[in-house]
Amino acid sequence: MLRLKLKDESETLLLGSAIGETIKNLDLKNFEIHLNGDLGAGKTTLVRGALQNLDWIDVVTSPSYTLCEEYEINGRLLLHVDLYRINSIEDVEVLNLDRETSTQKIIFIEWPENLQTDRNVDVIINLDHENQARHALIECKDSNIESGIRTYYENN
Ligand code: ADP
Ligand code: MG
Repeated sequence: MLRLKLKDESETLLLGSAIGETIKNLDLKNFEIHLNGDLGAGKTTLVRGALQNLDWIDVVTSPSYTLCEEYEINGRLLLHVDLYRINSIEDVEVLNLDRETSTQKIIFIEWPENLQTDRNVDVIINLDHENQARHALIECKDSNIESGIRTYYENN
């Protein structure tokens, strides 16, 4: 378990970047991250940081209305999902998150409590407001993932 105080937006972006870097280095076929936290906690900011690290140079829009934004970057598929507004489980099924891909697939899910089904998750992040800043609690399935994130975060 990793606990970090993210004192401003740049530190949330850095945590996202550390996750992006870890995903690149470990090179697992599928990688799924669940992001818990209230509106405005910094979930989308964190995904933006990960996308920047993965060399996405275009805009990153919040999927609050579209439910899912898809990015193809350097032979990877990244799905950024926001389930805040889903009405039923069919809204999730139509996203086809479990599709087979020939390349690496990375899935970030905001509001994962609305999933209603169990998924295989590599990293669970809880973001909380702490005065003007944020507090992050990071649980990783594997200690390699945790040390990858910590090392990058501490050195950048
Ligand atoms: P969410 O997706 O959880 O609703 P956003 O990522 O859209 O939240 O972020 C909401 C706001 O919080 C943005 O204005 C962002 O700049 C700001 N923010 C992100 N991280 C931090 C932080 N560590 N400290 C202060 N503000 C932050
Ligand atoms: Mg968001």
